[in-house]
Amino acid sequence: RGESTRGQISIHTENIFPIIKKFLYSDHEIFLRELVSNAVDASQKLQKLASYGEYGEEIGELKITVALDEEAKTITISDRGIGMTADEVKKYINQIAFSGATEFIEKYKDKATGEETNIIGHFGLGFYSAFMVAENVEIITKSYREGSQAVRWVCDGSTEYELSDVDKAERGTDIILHIAPDSEEFLDKGRIRGILEKYGRFLPVPVEFDGSVINDATPIWTKAPADLTDEDYRTFYRELYPMSEEPLFWIHLNVDYPFNLTGVLYFPKLANDKFQMKREKIQLYSRQVFITDEVKDVVPDFLMMLHGVIDSPDIPLNVSRSFLQADSNVKKINGYITRKVADKLNELFQSDRAGFEQKFDDIGLFIKYGAISDEKFYEKAKDFALVKNTDGKYFTINEYREHVQANQTDKNEQVVLLYTTDRNQQDAYIDSAKRRGYDVLLMDTVIDPHFINALEYKLEKTTFKRVDADTLDKLIDAGISSESVLSDDDKARLKEVFEQTLNDKSLSVSVESLPADELPVSITMPEFMRRMKDMSALSGE
Ligand code: ADP
Ligand code: MG
Repeated sequence: RGESTRGQISIHTENIFPIIKKFLYSDHEIFLRELVSNAVDASQKLQKLASYGEYGEEIGELKITVALDEEAKTITISDRGIGMTADEVKKYINQIAFSGATEFIEKYKDKATGEETNIIGHFGLGFYSAFMVAENVEIITKSYREGSQAVRWVCDGSTEYELSDVDKAERGTDIILHIAPDSEEFLDKGRIRGILEKYGRFLPVPVEFDGSVINDATPIWTKAPADLTDEDYRTFYRELYPMSEEPLFWIHLNVDYPFNLTGVLYFPKLANDKFQMKREKIQLYSRQVFITDEVKDVVPDFLMMLHGVIDSPDIPLNVSRSFLQADSNVKKINGYITRKVADKLNELFQSDRAGFEQKFDDIGLFIKYGAISDEKFYEKAKDFALVKNTDGKYFTINEYREHVQANQTDKNEQVVLLYTTDRNQQDAYIDSAKRRGYDVLLMDTVIDPHFINALEYKLEKTTFKRVDADTLDKLIDAGISSESVLSDDDKARLKEVFEQTLNDKSLSVSVESLPADELPVSITMPEFMRRMKDMSALSGE
């Protein structure tokens, strides 16, 4: 038997440092998001301490300033937050992956009664993203604590640092980045403004750059719906998507159990056939810091057509895609959003059916897509997903089935739902169906072939048939056969004449007797072939 030993895995910081530098974030511009977020945290911690009665002085203005000096090749981020003592610098800065933010939340979690603390930091790595762009980083900081000595910390990205006493009049922190030669792209006003506007547009503390404040510290999703007017929602939409048409309606999301999530989702006006080309996306925030507009894994697929903002501190952000997909919070968030959206649609339908019908051409695509792709959504959507007939009348699916049942049930007790995909082209077929007292659905949007397939699968005793897929007697075969006035010989001759005239082997000719009210000749294509054609047209083949 061999002996077992236990030990400690040791990490050589000299080796790990370049890895952090290089792989912490693939996007180097993130450094600014991280440093400004830390400044926001420091400012909000001060506010919290004051509210807990642990800071008696004037807080004053808590504005954060970002300053660019092209000559000196520096970017400086300054805040008037809690600052750090020399000991705190040693503890929070010199220990990589020790998060002061997490520690703060732990320490005051009893005091933050009920109210979620809004500190951004989490992993204790954000600060080091500074070294992705800087060859040298200086921290000049003075703690909020009375009589604190200000200190200066300097590090060139190696594992050695220098800490010394300095003079600093005001409470707070300046982070000075000496930009490395390979990162001089960041020494550009436009670039810095762009990054700040991207990530910091809705930060909760004012951020000033180049003489103006770049953010709205209290965006509407942080407010109570009761305090907001329709115009507030519209104004915010225009702010997010300046070039877009007015949204149809919106949903204000607000949940704090079992996860935290706020946001506003808008239903955009979508052209029926252009939905794939949209540029506007849902934006994902974490405590008012922009994270991404690639919300693929967080938001169910069919909801990607919506616009707006989702803010959740509970979505893991610095981890890989596959982890995100497996994350249980993300799954819950997915389910919650789906449910909320379905409930809102149902409420609109119940409270104002006429208004809902009016919007249906715009939102139908989205509802149908949802019903097809998400079982839970279908369960709710089946009560408000509408179909429209060729007379322009709207029905729920059940209403419609009941509407035609008496007249359109075949000998196998299947209710046959006739539909058209092109009103003009199939006009003659629609007319003869109507003359028989049949009803015809208009199914002419890109999603309809798929919607029909899904409904056929989900509804019992229901078949869809395109109005020109066969003669009406065969489409709805009630089992009553009509006598033919033609002999078999006549039929054979007639068939030959047509075949010669058409001269196309892919078309088959059959001669049948039709009731007097039907067209003398009709060219039909079997339902399954129609569908194959319709579906492949959709995928652009
Ligand atoms: P995190 O924000 O996840 O805690 P960071 O690496 O971004 O990790 O920061 C580490 C810690 O350094 C912070 O938690 C905080 O205690 C301290 N710190 C960083 N920036 C500042 C600042 N501007 N003012 C005060 N403390 C700061
Ligand atoms: Mg941080």
